[in-house]
Amino acid sequence: MEAASSSACPACDSSGARKTGAYGEYSLLRCGACGLVFSDPLAHPSAEFYEKSETYEKRGEMIGMPYLSEGLPEGDIDYKFWNFSKFFRDGIKPGGSLLDVGCAEGVFLGEAAKRGYCAVGIDINRRAIERIRAARPGLDVHACTLGEFLKGDGRTFDVITSFEVLEHLENPKEYLREAREALKSGGVLVLSLPNLDRNPDYTLAKFDNPPHHLTKWPKKAIDGFLERNGFVVERHEIADPRFSYYFKLIGLARLDILVGLRNRAFRGRKAGAGGAKAGGKEGARRIANSIAKKAVWTLATLMFFASSGLGKLTGGKPIEGPNHYIVARLRE
Ligand SMILES: [Zn+2]
Repeated sequence: MEAASSSACPACDSSGARKTGAYGEYSLLRCGACGLVFSDPLAHPSAEFYEKSETYEKRGEMIGMPYLSEGLPEGDIDYKFWNFSKFFRDGIKPGGSLLDVGCAEGVFLGEAAKRGYCAVGIDINRRAIERIRAARPGLDVHACTLGEFLKGDGRTFDVITSFEVLEHLENPKEYLREAREALKSGGVLVLSLPNLDRNPDYTLAKFDNPPHHLTKWPKKAIDGFLERNGFVVERHEIADPRFSYYFKLIGLARLDILVGLRNRAFRGRKAGAGGAKAGGKEGARRIANSIAKKAVWTLATLMFFASSGLGKLTGGKPIEGPNHYIVARLRE
């Protein structure tokens, strides 16, 4: 076994984490106390890294922008955005003030504004913020970190959301300190992030490792971390384990690209012809979505049962769903 490392766990400060793997020049350490897996060195790769990333750029152009300028069609929200759909179904502080930290292309932010939240978005990726400003000039967005935002802006919020952000940060504890500062009394922090105990997806290794994901959280680690840092975890859900396969299949079918193209085509028509034609198109789009969703979901279910059966035979751990969804209230 590898010797214990001198690096303290960024979630619980325990020392003596042990090396559990490596990715490129990074070591991956597992904390013996809380179970967090973290990168060594634990260093954020800078805003330029994300601005220059072809994947983030492509995703922004193809997926984010059509959704942002046209709004997210009702049927698409649970088709692709499990976490957003959960948030809106929960009806957390409706009509309240909301800060979306790590808003990327603003898909969630646009939806929150449309549904009556007084929404502000921040992201370190300046290109993403410029794109939001071009597509939806009315949205209140800023290219900065939460720490920089707090220095320049005295506003406090009823809700802070951070979807798939925490795992990118080099100092998660600092983030919670800043979130406490930016929340009103009784305010709520809503997070989603990848689950360490999900089905390992080797094709995603590039993105689920440093310098992208610097920390990997099992349920116990994230709940304890929030509770120790001034929050009461009110709700913690783990996505349906079949989502691992569902998203994989969507990725394989390049549905990201197809959805982007389809929305573009749809946008063109809506702007040109009249309402009746656009209405028919919308109906057809909904039916096509529903058929595609059912087919992919059925296949994902089969894959899940096959692989969990195989796991049981070989004595493996039961597979958990791919993501955490957490609602945590500021402790009074
Ligand atoms: Zn720990």
